[in-house]
Formats: sequence, structure tokens, C-alpha cells
Amino acid sequence: MKITWYKVKKGDTTAKIAFYHGVGIEALMNENRNIPAYYSYLEPGTFLRIPTNIGYDLSEKDYGCLYEYGWRELETDRLKMHSMIHSEKIGASVAGKPIWLFRTGSGKKKIFFSAAWHGNEWLNTWLLMKFLKEWQKNRIQKKRWFGIDLEELCREITLYIVPLVNPDGAALVQEGIHGVQHSQEEILKINEGFKDFRHWSANASGVDLNHQWPAEWKEEAASSPEHPFPRHFGGYTPLSEPESKAIYELSMKEKFSHVIALHSQGEEIYWGYAHQEPAESKELANRLAKVSSYRAVQTADSKAGYKDWFIKEFKRPGFTVETGVGQNPLPMEASMRMWITCLPLLLESCTFPDFS
Ligand SMILES: [Zn+2]
Repeated sequence: MKITWYKVKKGDTTAKIAFYHGVGIEALMNENRNIPAYYSYLEPGTFLRIPTNIGYDLSEKDYGCLYEYGWRELETDRLKMHSMIHSEKIGASVAGKPIWLFRTGSGKKKIFFSAAWHGNEWLNTWLLMKFLKEWQKNRIQKKRWFGIDLEELCREITLYIVPLVNPDGAALVQEGIHGVQHSQEEILKINEGFKDFRHWSANASGVDLNHQWPAEWKEEAASSPEHPFPRHFGGYTPLSEPESKAIYELSMKEKFSHVIALHSQGEEIYWGYAHQEPAESKELANRLAKVSSYRAVQTADSKAGYKDWFIKEFKRPGFTVETGVGQNPLPMEASMRMWITCLPLLLESCTFPDFS
């Protein structure tokens, strides 16, 4: 592969540049860290690396998520992973589904990504698994990814990923009551008899896994449902659920340098908690905003979330990233935009300084 340089003109877009040079958008983005997400604008005068002679087939198209991605699909993909990506079961859900942790890299700086805390946000599981598969592919082919040399990065960081924190919740959303072979009567009662679970965000006990962290849990509970509910019930005590406990134990053991928890939707990045975040959090959130075209916001009105607790406990940067636009549950057509906006954000965070 040869590289030529190109200076961005007024009116250029990523897709136009890729098309006129006969390369795929993906290939173009892989060579350049200064290209923000596809839907964003290119600054005239920016220099881009254009790969040539790569034998790219323009008919090769990535259509995004084409069917429901849940614990079964995750298991199929997990078994096909290259040995550079280790997987480990770190716990089980209320109904007994495994909670998988993926780990790659051998560096000192530990970074943690998580997704699908809420059942109806399983598109983010698809997104993180796609991230892992592409990571693996680029590393095997020794290709740069958004200008990043993954071999070099893997000596600096160890990446931890739990793509499906709430497997039961996602199964309920995708399969209805058949998604959980456990306490079906109670679950139907919590859903007020409705057979439609598309809006379900809790776990199989009707507890919201991102509402039960010891960071003003009591204050949050005062304005939340008092009993098991499809969303926002924080449990009778903090960290009462096996899924939250698994993430708590992992976090206490690994003491991550920073964390990113994916949620949906809104294309926003929340980076503060009760002014306890480190001074650098603001600038880091702005970096994430720049590459993704999302909006950085200091605080969400919610408390008792995982990133709130992480900031409070470690005084290190924690981010809640709301992927996608539209209304929850986001349709599968939203997946491609989620991927192309969130991918540069995840990679950018891998180049953050070490806070440990
Ligand atoms: Zn969420």
C-alpha cells in the first residue's frame, strides 16, 4: 500500500474524497485520526493520508446491525475470537446468563468500556462486539486504525470490555417473556401484564442496574419507583443485583484509569459528578465530542449511576456516552450512524493519559 497526501478543499466530504480516490470510507478513516465521524465536517486545509493500490472493492458495503444482537449472538462471536482477545465470565444474571468480560492488550493503562446496562439499549452490545471484531481484524492485518498503530497501543493499554451488562433485560426486549425462563409470572406482573417488553430497561428482578450505585443512591431513590418496575427502580439497597455486583468487583479489582459506559440515546457525553471529577475531565470530554460530533455535558440530572460512583470512588474520569438519535428503543437502522460516530470516540479515549 502506498500513501499520498491530499489537502482538503472547501466542499470536500469524507465520502467524496474516498469516492474520487477510489478508496473506501473505512480505508480512508483508518489512515487518518483527524477525520471526525462521517457525518461531520472536514476543515479545509487539513492534510489527509490517502491509501492507494489497496485493491478496495467499492461494492463492499457495511449495512450495520441487521438482526437482534443478544447473548446468543455474543456467544457465537466470542467462540470465534482470536486468542489476542481473552474472554472471562465475571458473573451471571438473575436468570443465570453469563456476563462476559473481554480483555486485550498488555499495557499498564487500564480502560473499561461497558454497554447494555439497560435492556432496550442492546444495539450498543452489537456496537462493542463490532469494535472488538474490527480491532482484531486490523491488528491481524497490521493496519492502522484511524491513524493508530494497534500494536503500539496494545503495549500501552489493556482494554476491558463488558458489552452486555444486562443479558436478561436485552432478552426480554428481544424475545418477550420467553427471553427469561425464570419468575415469568413476577416479571409479567412488573410489566403490568403487558406482553410487549420493547421498552423494558431493568434486569429480570425489575431493578435498574444504572440506578443502584452508592453515589447519592438514597436521594435518587426518593424520586424513583419504590418497587420493581421496568425502569428506574434502584433496588431496595445499593448494588443488590448480581449484574451490578459483578461490575463493582471488576472495577475494584482493576482500578481503571478511566471508564466509558454506553447508553442510548441523544449523542451526548456526560462527564461530571457532583464536582468530584478530575480537572482534566472537561478537556477529555471535549476531545471525545470533537471526533464523534456528540455534545459534551457536565452533569446529567441523574445520580446513582455507574459513572457517578466511579468518579466518586476513584476521582478519575468517567463518562456516560449516549449513542444514537431518535426514540428508545432505537431502530436497527440507527446502528450504522451509532457505529461511525462512536468508533472514533472509543479510539480517541484509548489515547487519554494514564490516571492510575
Ligand atoms: Zn441506558
